[in-house]
Amino acid sequence: VSRFEGITMAPPDPILGVSEAFKADNHELKLNLGVGAYRTEELQPYVLDVVKKADKLLLEKGENREYLPIEGLAAFNKVTADLLFGTDNPVIKQQRVPKNFAVATVQGLSGTGSLRLAAALIERYFPGGEVLISSPTWGNHKNIFNDAKVPWSEYRYYDPKTVGLDFEGMIADIKAAPEGSFILLHGCAHNPTGIDPTPEQWEIIADVIREKNHIPFFDIAYQGFASGSLDADAASVRMFVARGMEVIAAQSYSKNLGLYAERIGAINVVCSSPDAAARCRLCSILSVYFRVKSQLKRIARPMYSNPPVHGARIVANIVGDAALFKEWNAEMEMMAGRIKNVRHKLFDSLSSKDKSGKDWSFVLKQIGMFSFTGLNKAQCDNMTNKWHVYMTKDGRISLAGLSLAKCEYLADAIIDSYH
Ligand code: PLP
Repeated sequence: VSRFEGITMAPPDPILGVSEAFKADNHELKLNLGVGAYRTEELQPYVLDVVKKADKLLLEKGENREYLPIEGLAAFNKVTADLLFGTDNPVIKQQRVPKNFAVATVQGLSGTGSLRLAAALIERYFPGGEVLISSPTWGNHKNIFNDAKVPWSEYRYYDPKTVGLDFEGMIADIKAAPEGSFILLHGCAHNPTGIDPTPEQWEIIADVIREKNHIPFFDIAYQGFASGSLDADAASVRMFVARGMEVIAAQSYSKNLGLYAERIGAINVVCSSPDAAARCRLCSILSVYFRVKSQLKRIARPMYSNPPVHGARIVANIVGDAALFKEWNAEMEMMAGRIKNVRHKLFDSLSSKDKSGKDWSFVLKQIGMFSFTGLNKAQCDNMTNKWHVYMTKDGRISLAGLSLAKCEYLADAIIDSYH
């Protein structure tokens, strides 16, 4: 008998399990709207032209494959912080000429791995510290904090009545959380709802977080992919930092550069110290920044030693080259534009086909790769069992997996399932 006999079957992953079920279905009209990966209008995976170019240049350079330092590729860490916080941001400038702010950036294994590093940092240095996550949120958030043994609870976010933001509930719950909690926020394009706070609402969220001495913890997996603009999508994070707040921010290049399998991202901890004596006398760098970075490295070392180099070089080379950077921005706009077009077409199809008078405008108000349909579990089962539309059971559909040509079919499926 196997020594592993006592190991029970793990439940399938609710997101990645959808793709497996899709593969097993042979129906010609089947649609996979489960996983959040960009597809072309032909519903094929897409490698950005700019990535192909960067790849070619890297090959020509013939760089070695030696280990990176634990914190990752220096050129990547620099550009990734610049992209997130903006090159004109004092946080970045002061890192070069340190004053009282500095950002500790460590390359992580994409968004997930970067979140996991921050979770471990919280577990070690904020014992009993609680993380508040939105209800609902990306399913892996709960796994990440559970595995890191960080307690979490939820703040209200989604209002089923309006298929919109429950802003009052959100604010009330953030206010009610124990002082000094970590508030996990989606920087843009909230997953799974596609519902983001307005700029005015972001200001109020920042007010409450500051009042309660909470620590904002951004997960920003869609910078540039939501609106097509890197700057617009980072506005929430930058506003908090501009107010002089310390933030944690996890970044991912899975979606905006299509580097899903390269596992490239970063964790940033913006540290402040009003105390000039907190500076290292030799190098004048903020000591809290050094200490935080040293501990992030200490967490990474026994987990995976050091991060992979290829994606880091691609990002550093694209951002570091004006022509490639421009090309990347154009391709991001193209991808975001395709998703917006599909969103409009889906809305038009739903509005013209549905005779019940239901208001479908929530579809247009949402942003990013996903649309939250408001379908309940039984209705989602109908989508899959009757219409061969594969989606997560929370009612989320990935518009990136939809083409203009399939909008009418999907609208029929949604209307049938709703009524
Ligand atoms: N955070 C959110 C909200 C996401 O939607 C995703 C991907 O779907 C991630 C983080 C992390 O993805 P990755 O680990 O591929 O960067």
